[in-house]
Amino acid sequence: MTPPFTRILRDMPAMTPFVGPETLERRRGATFALRLGANESAFGLSPKARAALTAEIGRTNWYCDPEHWELRSALAAQCDVKPENIVVAEGIDGVLGIVVRAFTEPGDTIVTSAGAYPTFNYHVLGYGGRLDFVPYREDCRNDLEALAARARATGAKLLYLANPDNPTGTFHGRAAIEDLLARMPEGCLLLLDEAYAEFAPAHELPPISGEDPRVIRLRTFSKAHGMAGLRVGYGVATTRLIDAFNRIRMHFGVGRLAQVAALASLGDDDFAAGVVREVARGRTEYEALGRELGLNTIPSLTNFVPFDLATNEKSDRVLARLAERGVFVRKPGIAPLNRFVRITVGTGPERAALAETLRAVLREF
Ligand SMILES: *Cc1c(COP(=O)(O)O)cnc(C)c1O
Repeated sequence: MTPPFTRILRDMPAMTPFVGPETLERRRGATFALRLGANESAFGLSPKARAALTAEIGRTNWYCDPEHWELRSALAAQCDVKPENIVVAEGIDGVLGIVVRAFTEPGDTIVTSAGAYPTFNYHVLGYGGRLDFVPYREDCRNDLEALAARARATGAKLLYLANPDNPTGTFHGRAAIEDLLARMPEGCLLLLDEAYAEFAPAHELPPISGEDPRVIRLRTFSKAHGMAGLRVGYGVATTRLIDAFNRIRMHFGVGRLAQVAALASLGDDDFAAGVVREVARGRTEYEALGRELGLNTIPSLTNFVPFDLATNEKSDRVLARLAERGVFVRKPGIAPLNRFVRITVGTGPERAALAETLRAVLREF
């Protein structure tokens, strides 16, 4: 007999936030020719990051700096805050886990959009929280007024918003986010997930402050910096929050290679800017492809574009046909978003191959 699992675990719904493309490849017995489903960067690493990784590889017998001091200092300089305002973890996913753990008691209500980034929900359920969902608007944008109203009505401690958003690619400017903060109830913390911040106009991102107790800003090296496989993300918040997070976070979760690569990439502005420009070009191509095929697309400020297949059933079938032809993409699971297929912007040749396959698939309908 093993001991009983915790009540939280026993009551938890079975949930896999992500079925990885590797799992799908094992199931189908073949690899994908085009991997455009996880919003990974198609544009590789900064050459400076690559050099830093090569130089560090002989030191992987040593543990990493558990305080991520050099990386936090560089991030602090970039964000114009103190290193004490920054927590580094295994991607935004890791930071989300720390924040949820710090604030969620069993039964607490947490508010998010229905169909938003699922890893947040996964953590909330893992700590026994209760998720309260606000639907997306019919135009597929997050409903900021409804999110604030629901947080007030439920007395939520945490409110989650991705901006720019995944899976829609939509973006709310600075004034809208400031308005959301003003509408939120006293004592509610906004988790502002800015995984795609680099792809949005910098002047439209709210200024970062280490003094605002209402919000934690979440950023990552997984998207524009092309390091999803290394696992580095960070949060910027008040020192009071960061002090608390330091008491519960994993100290050696972000290894030496991840830390040096992130630091080097941060020092290579031209690289990330080049990725952002190429992604913008790719989005324009995808929009043109949508027009050619009679599919609406959602204007996106990320590294992916949602294509509108009109119904959930059709988008399911298109996704399956694409997979049969070796193309990995994903789609949102909840209305009104589930009629879309979400396609990551690849390299030029990958975009051309995607266009050819999508044309062929749609000819069969
Ligand atoms: C990709 C993505 C993440 C994951 O970030 P990691 O730093 O790789 O954990 C988090 N939030 C959103 C909205 C994303 O799209």
